[in-house]
Amino acid sequence: MPPAIPENAKGTTNLLDLALPAQLGLTIQSGVMLAPYTSMKVGGPAQYFATVKSTEQMVQLVQWARRVELPYFLLGGGSNMLISDAGIRGLVIHNRCRQVRVEAPPRCDQPHDPRPYLMAESGALMAGVARQSVREGLTGLEWAVSVPGTVGGAVVGNAGAHGGEVKDTLACAMLIDAAGDVVEVPQPDFAYAYRASRLKQPTALRAGFNPVVLSAYFRLNRGEEAEIRSRADQFLQHRRRTQPVEPSLGSTFVNPPGDHAGRLIEAAGLKGARVGGVEVSSLHANFIVNPGGVGAATAQDVVRLMAQIQTTVEGRFGIVLTPEVQLIGEWSSD
Ligand SMILES: Cc1cc2nc3c(=O)[nH]c(=O)nc-3n(C[C@H](O)[C@H](O)[C@H](O)COP(=O)(O)OP(=O)(O)OC[C@H]3O[C@@H](n4cnc5c(N)ncnc54)[C@H](O)[C@@H]3O)c2cc1C
Repeated sequence: MPPAIPENAKGTTNLLDLALPAQLGLTIQSGVMLAPYTSMKVGGPAQYFATVKSTEQMVQLVQWARRVELPYFLLGGGSNMLISDAGIRGLVIHNRCRQVRVEAPPRCDQPHDPRPYLMAESGALMAGVARQSVREGLTGLEWAVSVPGTVGGAVVGNAGAHGGEVKDTLACAMLIDAAGDVVEVPQPDFAYAYRASRLKQPTALRAGFNPVVLSAYFRLNRGEEAEIRSRADQFLQHRRRTQPVEPSLGSTFVNPPGDHAGRLIEAAGLKGARVGGVEVSSLHANFIVNPGGVGAATAQDVVRLMAQIQTTVEGRFGIVLTPEVQLIGEWSSD
């Protein structure tokens, strides 16, 4: 496919501006189907698509997109989003910046803190970072061995499991801020709450000019490697017993106060309910799964099944379930 010539939000093109992505060794493709890049294996095309493999490339590409007014969208592991069948207008940046290493305290934290820090680029898989921390005999991230997605997605959404969450060990993160500058941000500035932060965008989202997480510094403690490993193994085994392995969005709905969305959906008799290629998992009712993988289901199937679940649960129990995932891209009004 010949390289795409991006149009910016005003529908204009500046050929000179294309020199920069080429110098960085980046190819901007058009019409790349996004389904394979998501955990649910559904979703339409990206208008423009580029994969970045280093923080330097990420900074240059984002600053270029901002200069030419081409809205961008950060795609990490695609494990907390439902991309529409119409896809995403703008530039989808697929994040494969994956370096992870033990470092001295970063400038943005206590310079004399003797504890070890793990620096992870934002495209590193959170589970991989957790596994590396275990290998290094560091404790504090073992909860993440079973959580899909990247460090960037986890920092934005304050990912967590098994009683741990990002906010507990994050010391600071490097970002491209809303003005396009590279800044170091200490943890308290993220205003973390349950699966939420100042960076987390609303539930329906298109490409834009939002801040980008470049890397994160986790402040950990030294521990006994065998103990840390055994805790991590228990978390993994628990996950394998209780959650489906088929493509999914993870938890579909937020747990309502004092109850569990999965319990309500199961009690409403919806386990196994199906729309098109997707169905309510028979292992865990708060998971909608796509057993056929790429090409077997549409985003519309998922939205219709979610609506059916919401209507049925509200009818039976008077409780309105709130979606946990973000709806991304272009959706028609129905
Ligand atoms: C089977 C399964 C189990 C799950 N279990 C858990 C769990 O136990 N705990 C939990 O917390 N979550 C869980 N999730 C949800 C998901 O794993 C987390 O929300 C994860 O942190 C998302 O990371 P991601 O890289 O996939 O983000 P994506 O889905 O790629 O992106 C999510 C949002 O973050 C933005 N974003 C991504 N990277 C960046 C960046 N570098 N800079 C700025 N914005 C960015 C995206 O634009 C998007 O708006 C689960 C999901 C699945 C499929």
